[in-house]
Amino acid sequence: MSTVLNDLTNAAERAAIQKLAAALTLPCFDGGWVWLAGAGPGDPGLITALGLAAIANADAILYDALVNETLLKLARPCAELLFAGKRAGKRSCRQSDISRTLVSLAKRGKRVLRLKGGDPLVFGRGAEEALTLAREGVPFRIVPGITAGIGGLAYAGIPATHRDTNHVLTFVTGHGADGKLPDLDWAAIARGSPTLVLYMARKHAGEIAARLIAGGRDADEPAAIVSNASLSDQSTVTTTLSGLGQAAMHGTAPAILVIGENVALREHMDWLGAMSGRVLAPPRARVANAS
Ligand code: SAH
Repeated sequence: MSTVLNDLTNAAERAAIQKLAAALTLPCFDGGWVWLAGAGPGDPGLITALGLAAIANADAILYDALVNETLLKLARPCAELLFAGKRAGKRSCRQSDISRTLVSLAKRGKRVLRLKGGDPLVFGRGAEEALTLAREGVPFRIVPGITAGIGGLAYAGIPATHRDTNHVLTFVTGHGADGKLPDLDWAAIARGSPTLVLYMARKHAGEIAARLIAGGRDADEPAAIVSNASLSDQSTVTTTLSGLGQAAMHGTAPAILVIGENVALREHMDWLGAMSGRVLAPPRARVANAS
């Protein structure tokens, strides 16, 4: 884990955050506590007010690779900033080292912020850290964040649910603990959820699509790959379920894969594209419905 000190002069910004925290009567961040917070999918504007206050008050911040480092400019001067992710092909820090560091900093009376991309409890190993803290008797608070599977879809103009397309939404990881395709009942998933949102699924996208088609899904169903969602280099590729594996092979950026008829609504709802000139197709008028 590499450590740097924040030496930025940001007194005015931090004072503004303290005012905001007082206006919203946010809870105090006391010494000896760990706050396990989500930073959102990328756009720094998507962090919560509580997450922002935690950054401005923490003595130590352990952050992951998917956290937007712009947010760290709001940390206290002399806050310890510890990078706990995977960088430039190097292996990520061991989970046990991260948990041990959280416990030891908290036991030294520090205000410790564990900052993770998206939501800390969605495919982020936040529960493992919370369980270690609970075992060690370290008090903690969990600050939810906007998970990439929700925020990323919104930034791609794809509704997570829509009453004409899906009443069910399923989040799936495409990456088991051993790096292999998770051993799931893919046929049941294919039948059970009209919309699937896949995390960490680039590598096994082709195999997942094949299993879903074998489980009864239409090979021509709309699908999309949203990479670097909510960041300035966000890209969205639309394809079909049968084309998903091939499309996912292009690129290495973090990506959310989404499968379902709701993907087709992007044609009307790509608000980000519209900001840079895309002409959105007008949706057909809804037929009046008595129910
Ligand atoms: N806790 C995080 C997920 C961590 S798992 C959350 O709630 O969002 C890491 C995976 O999340 C990535 O492989 C990718 O599938 C997804 N992801 C995270 N940030 C993303 C982004 N900005 N754009 C697209 N996918 C993202």
